[in-house]
Amino acid sequence: MPKVLRKIVHIDEELCNGCGACVAPCAEGAIQLVDGKAKVIREELCDGAGFCLGVCPTGALQITEREAEAFDECAVEEHLAERGPLSLTETCFRCGTSETEAPLLPCRTQGRSVWVCTHCLPALIHG
Ligand code: SF4
Repeated sequence: MPKVLRKIVHIDEELCNGCGACVAPCAEGAIQLVDGKAKVIREELCDGAGFCLGVCPTGALQITEREAEAFDECAVEEHLAERGPLSLTETCFRCGTSETEAPLLPCRTQGRSVWVCTHCLPALIHG
């Protein structure tokens, strides 16, 4: 498949501590831990949306623009069907809501990586 210039997640291996916090937020299953480090396992699975960035405690994740395999939704569907769903054990840092009660989003606030539910997100944004 030809490469295209696009945005894609870059992982700094020096900064990655292998905590695994970025694996579940990736809805496409593009990130896995390999030998104790986070990796984008296949370029075509990463859409470059960057939902993983907010949960990284070390700043190892960035969005970069470079030549990469084009994002492929069909490949993502096949990959997720093989892998199966991952469930989050995290809860909203403000109210304790779990993923079964409301969608949770990874974000950074006041220098911390946290999860926030969709009920608390507006208050977090607007104060
Ligand atoms: S969240 Fe950051 S430090 Fe943790 S595994 Fe992912 S890239 Fe590495």
